[in-house]
Amino acid sequence: MSALPSLSPAPTPTTSEPTQTPEQLSGARRSLVLFVVQGIPLLGFCAGVWLFLREGISGWDLGLLVGMYLLTMVGIEVGFHRYFAHRTFETTRPLRALFLILGSMAGQGSALLWSAVHRTHHAHTDQPGDPHSPLLRGFFWAQFLWYLEMPAIGRFGRLLDRYRASPADILASREDDQAHRIARTLPDLLRDEPLVRLNQRYGTWMLLGFVLPTLAGGLVTGTWAGALRGLVWGGLVRYYLVQQVTFAINSVGHTVGVHSMNSRDTSRNNVVMALLTLGSGWHNNHHAFPGSARVDFRWWQVDLGGLLLRLLARLGLVWDLREPSPDALLAARIDR
Ligand SMILES: [Zn+2]
Ligand SMILES: [Zn+2]
Repeated sequence: MSALPSLSPAPTPTTSEPTQTPEQLSGARRSLVLFVVQGIPLLGFCAGVWLFLREGISGWDLGLLVGMYLLTMVGIEVGFHRYFAHRTFETTRPLRALFLILGSMAGQGSALLWSAVHRTHHAHTDQPGDPHSPLLRGFFWAQFLWYLEMPAIGRFGRLLDRYRASPADILASREDDQAHRIARTLPDLLRDEPLVRLNQRYGTWMLLGFVLPTLAGGLVTGTWAGALRGLVWGGLVRYYLVQQVTFAINSVGHTVGVHSMNSRDTSRNNVVMALLTLGSGWHNNHHAFPGSARVDFRWWQVDLGGLLLRLLARLGLVWDLREPSPDALLAARIDR
């Protein structure tokens, strides 16, 4: 592992204008977006509760739920967060594609969109321009509503389609709407045309997150009812849980827990969140060293995403895992 001398996320976002007037969705469109992002997943979760009250949950259904949760959370935390958003390690093209597909199966937007929003969060943490700081708009807003003031999220895929011939041309564009601004936080990813093409199949990958558990449930039980239970537990319930746990990094990750590293923001370390998110819940550690591939800076902190990366490094599938030097870690501690 190499030392990471800087506290800055890598690479540094090149542009963002926090002082610009935020673009707004119309009232009707806000209701529609809210229903799609929160209402439909909640209905899926309720289907799971109804099924549980009616017939309980079998060991196989529980396995599908946990297995799909872990797969998609690895896609989000190790793939989208530590690889695409922060570039904290290097990997092979097939594994990179797998990370992109697993993260897309979580249904939180494409790898490039997710990374653009997240880099914007790091560039303006708890300041105007942070898309989801609870310090600015409150806990509830950071957990459930923040995307309503980012109409760029709905336009981002179409923007990349417009620049299909040469995605890097977005970087030189003079257009300055929100979608262009967040896209310009991705100079490295936009120059990677095969990656952008894979990214643009997001809808297919997201669908796979529901088709796979449905197929698995149907094939193992040999019944349509088994397929339906696979869809409910491995698809719908898993989708809601991974979504809410990831969003909780925005809210809980900046309000509940211990602030023991100097990161100049409200980020907190929270052991429950760390376990649920495979490491991201050591959020204060992460904000102190966003370019680090590991976030377990004390011997008792468990970072499952970091452990997976160390295992993959042993197998030669990932390399150049970046981490802060012991001196930098010590200097950043405010509870020495
Ligand atoms: Zn944060
Ligand atoms: Zn981050």
